[in-house]
Amino acid sequence: MNLILMGLPGAGKGTQAERIVDKFGYPHISTGDMFRAAIKGGTPLGKKAKSFIDQGALVPDEVTIGIVNERLSEKDTAKGFLLDGFPRTVEQAEALDQMMADKGQKIDAVLYIRVDPEKLMARLTGRRICSDCGATYHLIFNPPAKEGVCDKCGGALKQRADDNEATVHERLQVNMKQQQPLLDFYEAKGSLKTINGDQEIDDVFQEVAAILGELAK
Ligand SMILES: [Zn+2]
Repeated sequence: MNLILMGLPGAGKGTQAERIVDKFGYPHISTGDMFRAAIKGGTPLGKKAKSFIDQGALVPDEVTIGIVNERLSEKDTAKGFLLDGFPRTVEQAEALDQMMADKGQKIDAVLYIRVDPEKLMARLTGRRICSDCGATYHLIFNPPAKEGVCDKCGGALKQRADDNEATVHERLQVNMKQQQPLLDFYEAKGSLKTINGDQEIDDVFQEVAAILGELAK
């Protein structure tokens, strides 16, 4: 089965991807890994991508799409794949459809792990770090015994600049804005499967597994 995994940062995509790989055996293909492999392998497209990255420039679509095409032509994808981080735009999604059609295949489902942005804010802004020993805490998942104080050394707990509300809010807004046209695109095609990400990891995975089981029939 050819799958795409979507969701906002912090929605738990990584964990679900691991579970899907374990249970169903599809290779997890993330954009980052794909680029690293192409660059390390020194393929013509990898070299092109590297030249843009080295200049701090965005890798153009044609290069990205080429790298995806090469990766999806490898043997381990014969029974399917789980694509993560691509496509990012409707243009890329259309290119992917074309790529699939050329291989006589299609995207079978887009698994979208939906989370409440408010809850996501709490998850993403809850991290605290000890300014003395570097121990990490989370206000929701791993709170210190005494607010603002490190359990281990008594140091003061601080929030990283990247984790502050304004920065996280901005990051989520950018991601939501980027993601929406893609969700609309796949919804219109009938391939979008929305999964409730605001529940325990096991329950999220049960929903995923049920959808994949249904699709396999
Ligand atoms: Zn400490």
